[in-house]
Amino acid sequence: MSEKKKGIREISPIDVYKLLPRTNCGECGVPNCMAFATKVVNGEAVAGGCPPIHDSQYKDSFIKLQELLAPPVKAITIGSDRKITVGGKHVLQRHEFTYQYPPPIAIDVSDDMDAAAINARVHKIAGFSYGYIGRTLTLDAIAVRSVTGDVDRFKAAVKVVVESSDLPLILCTHDPGVMKAGLDVAGNRHPLIYAATSKNWRAMADLAVSHGCPLVASAPGDLSLLRSLVKTLQACGITDIVLDPGTFGDEGLAGTVFSFTAIRKAACRDGDSLFGLPILGTPISVWTGQELSDEVNRWQEVYTASILMTRYADLLIMHSLDGWAVLPQLIWRFGLYTDPRKPVSVEPGLRIFGNPGPDAPVFITSNYALTFFTVESDIKAAKIDCYLIVTETGGLSVEAAVAGRYLNAEKIGDALRNSGVQEKVTHRYLILPGLAARLSGETEEASGWQILVGPRDSSGIGKMIREHWPPQEGN
Ligand code: SF4
Repeated sequence: MSEKKKGIREISPIDVYKLLPRTNCGECGVPNCMAFATKVVNGEAVAGGCPPIHDSQYKDSFIKLQELLAPPVKAITIGSDRKITVGGKHVLQRHEFTYQYPPPIAIDVSDDMDAAAINARVHKIAGFSYGYIGRTLTLDAIAVRSVTGDVDRFKAAVKVVVESSDLPLILCTHDPGVMKAGLDVAGNRHPLIYAATSKNWRAMADLAVSHGCPLVASAPGDLSLLRSLVKTLQACGITDIVLDPGTFGDEGLAGTVFSFTAIRKAACRDGDSLFGLPILGTPISVWTGQELSDEVNRWQEVYTASILMTRYADLLIMHSLDGWAVLPQLIWRFGLYTDPRKPVSVEPGLRIFGNPGPDAPVFITSNYALTFFTVESDIKAAKIDCYLIVTETGGLSVEAAVAGRYLNAEKIGDALRNSGVQEKVTHRYLILPGLAARLSGETEEASGWQILVGPRDSSGIGKMIREHWPPQEGN
């Protein structure tokens, strides 16, 4: 009987260390192989990040390492120049191990649209972008759907998309003849083929093999058929398979969540290799249900997408492109796939706003990303020329950092000295966040700077500077 493969949480740094070159050369950016092994088991580095391991003398070790670290849900790449990775999951629950590979969101275009409409929609998809606590959130792929069933129209639609954008593609039709026409145009872009079913699997498998493209196995509402289809496709030599167990809106949503969860449990808990594959969610399918208004369809699509992203979709196809429909998905995905062990932080150091002179105010704050971007936004809104010292607080907010002593008088003194701001201003006043007011006395002693207590909420910074800067002697 074969030994059950270790889960990622059961792999120790020693397991990884034993398979590394163990020369402690430091080429991976950390001082020694054990430190690198620790990063690998924590999901902070990949085994291939050790340059020497690619030497032929370590070939067998590298293969063993990849087998040891392989996730129970296979990672599959879609796209050529621009790529997305789907799957690659190690665990069922986020608290077990940080989720990796956030599910890409593809937006559809269809071949019943004229070229100008396709072009405009593609540009809207590609240009969608939203700045969120220092990150740029974007859409990831385009799903080209054949709705006419016409070979030439599909080919023309795919051509317009290919010429308009380098985003990864999903080609959608159950007709192998139509799919072939799309692949003739976009096959070199390594698109995902949607989909092989119980009726067309042989022809779709041939197309996937001849073009070297990943393939969706689709069996809506029938998990045993889905297993059988995957087994058949694997026997045809196809390894890059994405599962489509069907997405049903409204009253079918509970069953959809059950199917997605059963698949992921089978992969992560039971080591079921037939279900150890990425899952495709198609919230877009709500648009093909009963006749409802567009607004109701959008609402259904929005909550279906959010639920499936939580349980356990690795890739989503949506139709709605309105900001209110798409943005919640992007922000939810950001939250879900952020390492819960590490608060989102920014680099500590001195930030300069506007053209501050020698009498410009000096503020200090924590390096928690949400705090920093809020303070930054409030300073910019108030049009203040100033300096802001961002202190290393382990990514904690000001209040939490003060309570946990991650922000204290000594740290503030060090941050002041290391920032070099004392060479830039002639005064010695530091504006402390209101939430750190209780550090005022000890900070004055530790730093030699006079402390002014700022507002508890950075939205009050503008008013404070207007009314109390420059400070009057004795204040
Ligand atoms: S690059 Fe590889 S061999 Fe060198 S220290 Fe890092 S893990 Fe060890």
